[in-house]
Amino acid sequence: MRSGPNFLRGFMMAHLTDLTVHRGSVLHFLGDPGSAIEPAAGSHEYFEDGALAIADGKVVTAGPASDVLARYPREDRVVDHGRKLLLPGFIDTHIHYPQTDVIASGGRGLLDWLRDYTFPMEQRFGDIAHARPVADFFLDELLRNGTTTALVFCTVHPQSAEAFFESARQRRLRMIAGKVLMDRHCPDYLQDTAATGEAQTRELIGKWHGRERLLYALTPRFAATSTTEQLASVGRMAREFPDVFIQTHAAENLEEVQWIRDVFPDARSYMDVYDRHGLLRERAVYAHCIHIDGSDRERMAHTGAAAAFCPSSNLYLGSGLFDIEAADAAGLRFSIATDIGGGNNFSLLRTMGDAYKVAQLSGKLLPPLRAFYLATAGAARVLRLEDRIGSFRPGTEADFIVLDPDATPLLARRCEQARTLSEKLLVLLALADDRAVAQTWILGRLQHTRA
Ligand SMILES: [Zn+2]
Repeated sequence: MRSGPNFLRGFMMAHLTDLTVHRGSVLHFLGDPGSAIEPAAGSHEYFEDGALAIADGKVVTAGPASDVLARYPREDRVVDHGRKLLLPGFIDTHIHYPQTDVIASGGRGLLDWLRDYTFPMEQRFGDIAHARPVADFFLDELLRNGTTTALVFCTVHPQSAEAFFESARQRRLRMIAGKVLMDRHCPDYLQDTAATGEAQTRELIGKWHGRERLLYALTPRFAATSTTEQLASVGRMAREFPDVFIQTHAAENLEEVQWIRDVFPDARSYMDVYDRHGLLRERAVYAHCIHIDGSDRERMAHTGAAAAFCPSSNLYLGSGLFDIEAADAAGLRFSIATDIGGGNNFSLLRTMGDAYKVAQLSGKLLPPLRAFYLATAGAARVLRLEDRIGSFRPGTEADFIVLDPDATPLLARRCEQARTLSEKLLVLLALADDRAVAQTWILGRLQHTRA
């Protein structure tokens, strides 16, 4: 089938010199499928025998294989993925690269875990010779798990951010990261000051924000580890650089919430501490948001701030259950994130499985289509990057993954029996992990192949 006007084909050929068509099952999201069993109309496109056309690192189109192959009849540039599933790369909206080696450390809860494992490990990132190989390992692990963009904490040391950005640049990844700001209530060896933190942050923004695919995030660790002077400094930078991101933690653990009450007795709530310093705005992502109230959620929704739901971490550290229904009721944007190393695996597939279980424990449903949305287009929406990543809309950056439903004998057996897309996705989020990520493509180029 080679239909279509010749002049159009000629035009396309002339301008798309680097065109490749990937054939397989293609799924992507155009909106939130919602929490009902039936997904919202128009929220996704699924082409069981589909194709994805890519040129110059961007998506040209996605559609039924017969249509796409007819429009771009280039047999020599067709990659046939068989019955594998092509999805936009996963987006992890909360993760700490220096905690790669803290995964699976014990502790009774967040504050012990920070003191006993995380802070001593983070001390080592003042040395770029330590930081760089960890950044390399971390990014390769993300790619092995099909994660192509992440919002990443470094440590307090500017060198840790330098190492991370350089590793991400070499892999041509769209990554967002920032040096941690932390000027009290932590070991001396991890403290900056309001002044040094701001100076180092400004320098890093100037060097890395908007350079190739890299973006910067103002990164106060959490309210308790910054003085009001430092929070005011973050607020000033947040106003001065509206397209720079903000990332921090909020209301993860009850002991932590009480501590914030003691440290900021005048604040109405934990979120109010951030609000008073001008840190609730678009491109601000708050990890956890478990122990917050309706006013906090409404205020976040109103200002455009978003939450990162980290189910694996919340279960592992016993922090609590994120309230999906309350977030929806307030119109609060949220996404699913791993929170390595409180979370204990890099796989957003496994994290979706944990999100599904958290919803079950709350007596709610997280439909599988919505889970996949929250790790792709929904996460891009949280980051306000939906015009660049997270879907196969024409013109978006061609970061995509190839999931193998036959990756393990059990997965193959269960996928074979799935009658609907929803059933197939439920099998994937319940059973799949990095073994199912056959390939990861960055800007249309193969960056990872499963061994
Ligand atoms: Zn975290």
